[in-house]
Amino acid sequence: MDFAFDHAHHDRAAHLRKDDAWRQGSGGGSDIRVLVVGGEHVATLGGAGLRWISLDEAPEGEWLFLGIKDGVRHAAVMVDRVPAELEPVSLRAIGPSIAPADASMAVHAVGIARWHQTHRFCARCGAASEVAQAGHVRVCPVCGAHHFPRTDPAVIMLITDDQDRALLGRQAAWPEGRFSTLAGFVEPGETLGDAVRREVMEEVGIEVGDVTYAASQPWPFPSSLMLGFFGRALSHDITVDQDEIAEARWFSREEVTELTASSELLLPPNVSISRWLLQQWHGGTVHGTWS
Ligand SMILES: [Zn+2]
Repeated sequence: MDFAFDHAHHDRAAHLRKDDAWRQGSGGGSDIRVLVVGGEHVATLGGAGLRWISLDEAPEGEWLFLGIKDGVRHAAVMVDRVPAELEPVSLRAIGPSIAPADASMAVHAVGIARWHQTHRFCARCGAASEVAQAGHVRVCPVCGAHHFPRTDPAVIMLITDDQDRALLGRQAAWPEGRFSTLAGFVEPGETLGDAVRREVMEEVGIEVGDVTYAASQPWPFPSSLMLGFFGRALSHDITVDQDEIAEARWFSREEVTELTASSELLLPPNVSISRWLLQQWHGGTVHGTWS
């Protein structure tokens, strides 16, 4: 695994969503594995791994078909709050340490569960809407509108200059020494490259030229898709916006090596795409991390 949620490991088998087809079949559904999800919390076994239960054991809730893994159907039941006896833990905390296939299904489940929690009413007419397509759509019974799960694209970028130094920033709320790549949400009507250039200009006053896509990471807390880029700066002089960013500077590889070893510089945890972008640029051993 390069970072948390970096690959899908289950077949979403969307053709089984209609008319509850996923419930039909051999064994009357007794072979279906079910995850209990409440917002970003999932049922676990002692907080160490996901707790999969059978259809019969599942509490009342709305159903979400996740797909097929190793020939076995997997689903989630969405509840307001996961019962304490099922040892709920936030996926944000447990996601990086569970098996990749479980992480893949849990991030799917949490992304959709969080959307249902905050989108119970039709955005067109205001009537209460109903779950359809095995949890992947909400349909309004009054005006007929279909509403689909929301994913908000956000760009996250490692910008380098002509000396191949990396541009890192410290958010106003962070302690001294904690730095990361810059990031921001994509706005309607702009391309991803435009979003990278605009965010960097807004936050630190640096002009960016070429932008190259690197990788993406689903981050459903509540609904982001982090789109990772490398970008080339066309200028050097930093002017921080003093709103989102309190401090920003250029770091050489040697500085990152030395300052992380002495803990004067703390970088994002290994599970994040931000850390991965930094590691790709650095190429060597990077130490310190915040948790
Ligand atoms: Zn409606």
